[in-house]
Amino acid sequence: MLQENTGKVICTHTWSSAIAHIDADAFFVACEQALNPSLKGKCVAVGKERGIITALSYEAKQKGIKRGMRLNQAKNICRDLIVLESHYETYSLFSVRMFEILKRFSPLIEEYSIDEAFVDLTGLRRLHSKTYKEIALSIQSTIKQELNISVSIGISLTKTLAKLASKLKKPYGITLIPGNQIHIFLKDTPIEDVWGIGPNTASLLKKLNIRTALEFVEKDENFLKRYLSKPYIQTYNELKGIQSIEFIPKLPNKSISKAQSFAPSNKESFIFSELVKNLELASYKARRHGLFAKKLTVFLKTSDFQVSFIKVALSIPTNLPIMLTNTLKEAFNKIYTQGLFYRQTGIVLSDLTEKTQQDLFEDTVKIEKIERIYKALDKINSRFGNNTVCLASSLASKQNKKQHLNLPFIDIKI
Ligand SMILES: [Mg+2]
Repeated sequence: MLQENTGKVICTHTWSSAIAHIDADAFFVACEQALNPSLKGKCVAVGKERGIITALSYEAKQKGIKRGMRLNQAKNICRDLIVLESHYETYSLFSVRMFEILKRFSPLIEEYSIDEAFVDLTGLRRLHSKTYKEIALSIQSTIKQELNISVSIGISLTKTLAKLASKLKKPYGITLIPGNQIHIFLKDTPIEDVWGIGPNTASLLKKLNIRTALEFVEKDENFLKRYLSKPYIQTYNELKGIQSIEFIPKLPNKSISKAQSFAPSNKESFIFSELVKNLELASYKARRHGLFAKKLTVFLKTSDFQVSFIKVALSIPTNLPIMLTNTLKEAFNKIYTQGLFYRQTGIVLSDLTEKTQQDLFEDTVKIEKIERIYKALDKINSRFGNNTVCLASSLASKQNKKQHLNLPFIDIKI
């Protein structure tokens, strides 16, 4: 139990906002145990089909088994280990049901991963006639009762603090960090445990004599700006109880569109690259919301504002541009007229679904690889700006933009 100490108070508000982070405990294994209670309390792991441990029960964790271990290695550590095949479809059903339960407590839910969500509870104490702690207890027991899985919950003023809180008592824990106690919790938090601080940043901060989250927030912002980019300054503010990282609730409308205008051009490769860029931006948004498109609409606008468009049904719902480039090229060829000058291209991803590609696509491993690549790219792009890393086919658009920047007075007349 953390005690009040004499440290400097970082935030004087108790609950200026209340964000909950809900994180299912050992989720994949918990789903298996919920369906087959005889597995409860045992050393259980998932990942048989790949020969690698992808998830494991707390009992297996205690024996020293880790994620990513090979099966035979894990079996050597624990002879009783029960290894199961993964059932992603089952896990996503549990996930959908868990998020549905959360929607009973607040309309503002951000589905962060298959087993994690942020819930904005700000101002909802009166509606529920409960304290934030009681709301957390109620969320936890409802999920336990209806799904037979356990979750840990952290509640604080920001997403970063809530994510920190949910980790503190696992499994089946609840931790609240009100604003006036932030300093107590940060004092005991190693800097590398903060959400958003990777190993490289942690080692840079250690060189600057910053070892704990408290030492980090006690630094002057201008000092940190010399060494760190914007996302880390957001983390810095979040740790101080100031909401800085966007809360991304579910999209109410089921389509995402991106369109951008440019100086009229009749250069086919450039116009197509503009289209690819829009596809990348729209797909990025879809990925952030965990949505997959079943339909793709492509449109082109000529310099005299004539619009041509085509709508394509996709055989596999996706949010990965690389899986759509061939379809995009075919669609483009159907509506593009050589010689015409165009001023705008656009993309609409519609019929969005939460169903993952894994549910419908046979080559799960390949898809997961592509997804991992895009996760890394999304990180780079969110740090250095959209389209820092992009498909080669959208490069012409970037190069052309650079020319405009270098030659700001040139205006293409038609
Ligand atoms: Mg989890």
